[in-house]
Amino acid sequence: MARLFVSDVHLDADAPQATEQFLDFLASHAASAEALYILGDLFEAWVGDDDQDEQKQRVCAGLKSLDRRGVACFALHGNRDFLLGAGFSARSGCRLLSDPVVAQFDGERVLLTHGDALCTDDHAYQELRSLVRTSAWQRRFLALPRSHRELLADEARAGSRRHTARTVPYIMDVNEAAVAAALRAARVRRVIHGHTHRPGVHDLELDGAPAQRIVLGAWYEQGSYLSYERGRYELRELPR
Ligand code: MN
Repeated sequence: MARLFVSDVHLDADAPQATEQFLDFLASHAASAEALYILGDLFEAWVGDDDQDEQKQRVCAGLKSLDRRGVACFALHGNRDFLLGAGFSARSGCRLLSDPVVAQFDGERVLLTHGDALCTDDHAYQELRSLVRTSAWQRRFLALPRSHRELLADEARAGSRRHTARTVPYIMDVNEAAVAAALRAARVRRVIHGHTHRPGVHDLELDGAPAQRIVLGAWYEQGSYLSYERGRYELRELPR
């Protein structure tokens, strides 16, 4: 049975087609898999586990039915949904993993990460990231009324769009030295990540031996996932 990986689904009330496609994916491809790994940014925004959005509830229910079928579901935080917490886990049956995390697939240790921490050339973003990932900031934010949190999240997304529009593309890709450092620190030769929306398989050389970086695609225009089975990784597209 296959292990499946997705990231950057960016589910949002404004993108109902993506939600339907992701629910289809859960009920078909994922339902016959051994495990599903969501490597961050499942949701376009998540302002706390008290989120009542109907689309998000349906996605959680879809994940929960996978869990009931015996498909193990794991999720990492992305930069959009880093506030997914115990309430989300309970509702969806997804186990939240810390980012980065090392998994073992048929004896091989593989690094799983959302990927935003590898984009070290984007100094402005890294500064913001280190602030909002502190428990003090998160406690203060989650104590605000939900309507305030939603307003602030909308503002943050607009700010992120402005930042993205005026930042040269390479700055928003991973930094090669950061990738090498992450592989060395985890003592692995393969990393799987998302975030950059540049799906592909990159063969690298690290300290004189082969290594590999697999990048998952985003779900804005179509679905996309990575399948691992019997030693083979394959990126697949799901046309919409
Ligand atoms: Mn991301």
